[in-house]
Amino acid sequence: MKKYLINPNLRWCKANLHCHTNHSDGYFTPEEIKKYYKAKGYQIVAYTDHELLFDNSYLCDKDFVALTSTEYSLNSDTQKTIHLNLFSKDPHNTFHIATGPKNIREYHVSKYAPNKIKYDGYNRTLTKESVQETIDRANKAGFLVQFNHPNWSLNTRDDYIDLKGLWSLEILNYMTEIETGAEYCINIYDDMLRHGHKLVCTMGDDNHNYHGGFEGSFGGFNYIGVNKLTYSEVFKAMKDGNIYASNGPIIKSLYVDTKEMKVFVECSSAVNIILVGYMRRFMHVCGKNLVKADFNIDKDEPYFRITVKDKNGRVAHTRAYYLKEYQG
Ligand SMILES: [Zn+2]
Ligand SMILES: [Zn+2]
Repeated sequence: MKKYLINPNLRWCKANLHCHTNHSDGYFTPEEIKKYYKAKGYQIVAYTDHELLFDNSYLCDKDFVALTSTEYSLNSDTQKTIHLNLFSKDPHNTFHIATGPKNIREYHVSKYAPNKIKYDGYNRTLTKESVQETIDRANKAGFLVQFNHPNWSLNTRDDYIDLKGLWSLEILNYMTEIETGAEYCINIYDDMLRHGHKLVCTMGDDNHNYHGGFEGSFGGFNYIGVNKLTYSEVFKAMKDGNIYASNGPIIKSLYVDTKEMKVFVECSSAVNIILVGYMRRFMHVCGKNLVKADFNIDKDEPYFRITVKDKNGRVAHTRAYYLKEYQG
């Protein structure tokens, strides 16, 4: 029996899950972002303005979903920080959980009447308890929570390894990769998986488009598999893990033959296809123009994930798939 993990019969939509507009410190309006990303073949953008949940769902149409989202900062008096993206299940939800007066930024005061921003009064800060409390409140209110750009935030393992309730780790933040040259962190994803986290991995632009330019745009994206391109379908696909991260390659299909216990990958032209397991179980194939590969599955391994690399060094990464998901 074929058990699809990336099902080619779904519609795989291109998504930027990290984006700033002029509602916070980005340059473009939400409408301009929609226009420019649609022109580049995107169907989904999460509008993640800093500390601000804005209902952008009026931008949704039959070819585009605008996710109501925000990026929360948890700060201390040092430069270290934690940034979390929150993706709302309800497109019209603009109630700011885990937000107190101390979390309101100056540009919010200048652009919006601060008393119009509805919040629960909890001032989040950079303590372990407060980070966990923020994630808990977010999950309770129906958000998916993503841990962003750990390198730029000066994070160490201690900052994320024991957190509960994360939906995703941002393994590539395109803007902070440009700024730091060190934001690609699939190794952190592996460390979290081996520590027992069950989460997906994503890439995001974190575009601010300063001065109207496109630096930071179109460099880190995801493909989300849906039956129909609607807000609720997109959110459900994200929650269910019908998503993979890429900055180039496309994974056309991924399935397990449950009788043979073999996994089959079909992809765009690649030079390296890799299976990564729980312990030192790395399997790979190399070639000039690979479009498929298959690997045996070890039943003693709790999960595997797949990496596809093209000749330009661009990569696609799946999430980890667990034995109980694909066993016959
Ligand atoms: Zn950030
Ligand atoms: Zn950001």
